[in-house]
Amino acid sequence: MINIAIDGPVGAGKSSVARECAKRLGIIYVDTGAMYRACALFCLRNNVEIKPENEAAISELLNSRLNLEITLVDGVQHVIVNGEDVSDAIREHGVGMAASAVSALPEVRRFLLDKQRSIAAANSVIMDGRDIGTVILPNADIKIFITARPEVRAKRRYDELVAKGNNVTLGEILVDVNRRDYNDTHRKESPLVQAEDAILVDTSDLDFEQTVSGVTELIQQLGKM
Ligand code: C5P
Repeated sequence: MINIAIDGPVGAGKSSVARECAKRLGIIYVDTGAMYRACALFCLRNNVEIKPENEAAISELLNSRLNLEITLVDGVQHVIVNGEDVSDAIREHGVGMAASAVSALPEVRRFLLDKQRSIAAANSVIMDGRDIGTVILPNADIKIFITARPEVRAKRRYDELVAKGNNVTLGEILVDVNRRDYNDTHRKESPLVQAEDAILVDTSDLDFEQTVSGVTELIQQLGKM
């Protein structure tokens, strides 16, 4: 059993890198951002505005009406909300900002904490998010903090969204990236911060393959895999 925590800011390439490394290492990849996105989508669909004043109502909504399941199909994570596969719907542009807002609410973080810990307790995983090495799995075997310069992250996010047919501008995405960085690092509850014992990987000047092979080797060495 091995637990690997990968954290970092939006657009650093964490998810795609973690997914590919997990595949090469033959272990499970868990994307915790997708869980926050699912909670945000559920609030949006139920017309509950995501703001601190509504925290109790949001907590009640999630605890009483949301059945959130994470399944793996051919190694790919699917997010199921009350029986519906929302894996594509949670990737829409507006859901990211909503996820950032919902993730600042302590009750929402509490709602997801046990789910995340129990997946890691039962499986060898690479789990990615913002607080995996600091809060969710403080005793993870290996912790990696992946980052890149904001402009580079905005460009990657922009390319991704445009490829999916979203009508956005690079300037708008950079503003979005900076705002989410600010939200994620300044919130009171589990802010985004590099764990003291995490290894820093800056991917600004690395391409995808360089990052994946570097991180995979690092894990193989440190985890004696
Ligand atoms: O990683 P992704 O962009 O999909 O995450 C969506 C939002 O969920 C992030 O902006 C962040 O605010 C939040 N998040 C979090 N803790 C995690 C994973 C994601 O707060 N472990």
